[in-house]
Parts: sequence; C-alpha cells; structure tokens
Amino acid sequence: MTTTDPTPARIGVIVVAAGSGTRLGHGMPKALVPLAGRPLLAHALRGILDSGVADELVVVLPLGDDRLEGTCREAARRTGTVVATVPGGAERHDSVRAGLAALGPVDHVLVHDAARCLTPPAVFARIAAALAAGSPAVVPGVPVADTIKAVDPAAAAALDIPDAALVTGTPDRSGLRAIQTPQGFDAAALAAAHQLAAGWDRTAAAAVTDDAALMERAGHPVLVVPGDPAAFKITTALDLLLAEAMLARQDTATRTQET
Ligand code: C5P
Repeated sequence: MTTTDPTPARIGVIVVAAGSGTRLGHGMPKALVPLAGRPLLAHALRGILDSGVADELVVVLPLGDDRLEGTCREAARRTGTVVATVPGGAERHDSVRAGLAALGPVDHVLVHDAARCLTPPAVFARIAAALAAGSPAVVPGVPVADTIKAVDPAAAAALDIPDAALVTGTPDRSGLRAIQTPQGFDAAALAAAHQLAAGWDRTAAAAVTDDAALMERAGHPVLVVPGDPAAFKITTALDLLLAEAMLARQDTATRTQET
C-alpha cells in the first residue's frame, strides 16, 4: 500500500443465527442442524471468513443455548478473526440490534443470515467493494424466476376455499429482484435506522423483513448488486436436501482434482 492510499474501512459482520428453525422440523435451532456432518452455522462462518472481508465478527446465537459456542471458537481459532457471541431476540430485527450493540467501532456493517450458509465468499467481497465505493446500503439480488402476484386473502374469504386469495396485480418481473444477504451498510446509518424503528409497534416492525427496508424508510438509497443462487436461504427440508447435494458435488470435485 502507498502512503496516498486511504485507510481501508473497518468492517464488522453480524451473523444472525438465533432463529428457531420451526419450519425445518428438526426440533433444534436451525443454525445447529447438521449439514454434511457439521452445524449449518459452521458452513456460514466458513464462507464469511474465507472472503477475508471481516475485521470482526459477531454471531447472534439462540438465547440460553451455548451449543454453538464451540463452532464460533473454532472459526476464530482457524482464522485469527475476533469472533464474539451474543444472545438473540424474539424477532430477527431484535437479533440484529443485539449484534449491533456488541460490535466494536467499525465503518461498515454486513448483516448475514446464518440460514444462507452456502453463500460464496465472492458475494461478501462484492458487497464490501460497493460500500468502499461510497454506497451507504448494498444488497445482493437475483432475478426472479417465478411470476409474482400481489394478492388479497380477505377478498377471497367468501369463497370458503382454504388459503385462497384474490390476485390484485402482477408486477413486471424484469423490475424485481429476490434479495439475499449479506446486506452491507454504513455502520452509523444502520444504527440510526434501527434506532428509528425501535419504537414501532409489533405490526409495523413485523412488516420489515430485512435491514435494507429500514434504510429505505430512513431515506437512504439502496444499491442492488448481483447475488448468487447458492446464497439461497435454508427454510424447508427440501432446501436442506439441495444444500447436501451441493456440498456432496463440491466434495467429489475436490477429490477428483486431488487424484
Ligand atoms: O426465520 P428466517 O429464516 O427468516 O431467519 C433468517 C435469519 O435470521 C436466520 O439465520 C435466523 O437464524 C435469524 N433469526 C435470528 N433471530 C430471530 C429470528 C431469525 O437471528 N429471532
């Protein structure tokens, strides 16, 4: 580095791993569910740490459950990165807030779902690069394959058909992106956006499903950069099956290269 290079931004990464994983049906927090013999969280930490963007890492763990502490310690030992753990809250945004409170002084924050445990390191690097270029909020997104409909369940109530809804509109698919994590932010702006939302009632807070939405509400421009299909969120048993298949294929490819 020359003397004219600006000081690189200090980056903190918050991994939210405090979800219950009820929809996965394993009877344990999702981050603990084994994937190719290791907890889901171990895979998520590998992707982050292999990207080399994290100056410090805060992992938000299920409240009152220390079973993932060892996974975090192992990741810290392997890479020499500072890894702190904090207990999460009832909702995802409570967990992000707990993570923000535990971060040291950083310029940029990346918030990542542990459930997107196969996110390639290149996605973290892409988000960090866009923040370094001056964007206050950057999210990874992929084109939408399905046609998306806006619906109104109440309008179909009289039909007495279970879970039916009436279509109210069809947005142009070319103008839509499915948004993933890691989502990257100017640290001070994200903290202020969360503070703004802290007083909202439960309904208003529940309608905000990612951190970028808080930044949008606070008036910040949010940039979308290419995400990666491999950064899908593990929600159902089918997702877990796909993740297992992806890891098995990687494993076979690695062994073929070694022979
Ligand atoms: O529930 P969902 O799949 O949307 O959760 C996304 C991420 O947020 C997961 O990694 C989950 O562990 C995390 N989360 C959390 N605290 C909660 C709810 C979800 O850390 N209360």
